[in-house]
Amino acid sequence: MPVEAALARLLEVAEAAPIREREHLPLAEVEGRVLAKDLIATLDLPPWPNSAMDGYALNLADWSGEPMFVSQKIFAGQAPEPLQPGTCARIFTGAPVPAGADCVEMQENVQVLADERVVFTEPMIVGQNIRPQGQETTVGELVLPAGTRLGPIEQGLAASLGCAALDVVRKVRVAVLSTGDELVEPGTALGPGQIYNSNRVLLCSWLQRLGCEVIDAGILPDDLPTTRAKLGELQDVDLILSTGGVSVGEADFLGIALREEGELTLWKLAIKPGKPLTVGHFRGVPVIGLPGNPASTLVTFALLTRPYLLRRQGVQDVEPLKFEVPAGFAWPQAGNRREYLRGRLEQGKATIYRNQSSGVLRSAAWADGLVEVLEGRTLTAGDEVTFIPLTELLG
Ligand code: AMP
Ligand code: MG
Repeated sequence: MPVEAALARLLEVAEAAPIREREHLPLAEVEGRVLAKDLIATLDLPPWPNSAMDGYALNLADWSGEPMFVSQKIFAGQAPEPLQPGTCARIFTGAPVPAGADCVEMQENVQVLADERVVFTEPMIVGQNIRPQGQETTVGELVLPAGTRLGPIEQGLAASLGCAALDVVRKVRVAVLSTGDELVEPGTALGPGQIYNSNRVLLCSWLQRLGCEVIDAGILPDDLPTTRAKLGELQDVDLILSTGGVSVGEADFLGIALREEGELTLWKLAIKPGKPLTVGHFRGVPVIGLPGNPASTLVTFALLTRPYLLRRQGVQDVEPLKFEVPAGFAWPQAGNRREYLRGRLEQGKATIYRNQSSGVLRSAAWADGLVEVLEGRTLTAGDEVTFIPLTELLG
């Protein structure tokens, strides 16, 4: 299954099971969450015309070239009097422009005479240095649509509109399961044939960054009764996300349990690293099973699970930003799967880690992006390849 087809199907599955519950949270607590209701402006921004400079406000039609009297001084936070005809007003950045003034001249272009009258030394135009009322938003305007992911910038924007709290989608509850008899947690000595569980902490941290509530369901040994029992304990989550055990090997107990008490489709993805992906449910609870090799886990999580989780929260824009860059390497052997090489940008060119094995997580720690090489494609240095920054995928 091509990557696009897998993504399209996963997004459909996500749309069929949207998270509907909402929470009303103080603005300071919405970071990383998804807006549940359109944010409509209830005021104009700015609410009144204000000065973009420290200087002098005047009505340009009153200006004959002669010195002018300064009739008032307006600081930010003050409410000015209407401008006395024939005079100007001293004004500071952010202060309301007085009624009757249509122009602000910056103080650098103004000479103050001994009698405190001022002379404007440069030509001026109507509207200069004035931020008009409503230049950012006007009352009733849609500022952020439902489904927007909220971060520091959206929080700042909501604050500028006076919002103290926002309606957000409840967090997606994701249970993380690592499968494999060979796995032990760091902190314990390794026995023969054992390896440390790297996927668990990788996924738990990543899910938290994506605004999920993480249920760490630990390590599942390769046996059917424990697998059944464990899956049965996870009935109140929105997704069971497992790693490992999805190869067609004999130890695919997750697959057996899903076939018995739910549904399972095994997708053979045209992706490298990656390939086998389990999608299904156990007694109605959605399950996604990622391949166990850490670099495969990373790539299939980044490109397929992340958009799935965002879409379940109602996010429309789930595509990471990507761009074309010249390859700083050659790729002589075309593959029949789409490759996501762990790479870096060096002097504007994509370079790749020396070892692209799916078991090598260090490649991704070295990298700052995924370099996409399409199926059937060969490259010579200088050909364009697609680069997806890891920062796009990690948050
Ligand atoms: P599996 O899909 O279970 O056959 O696993 C494929 C490969 O990934 C094997 O070499 C496993 O030992 C390894 N693996 C599976 N799960 C993990 C994990 N949680 N952490 C590190 N390596 C893993
Ligand atoms: Mg295994």
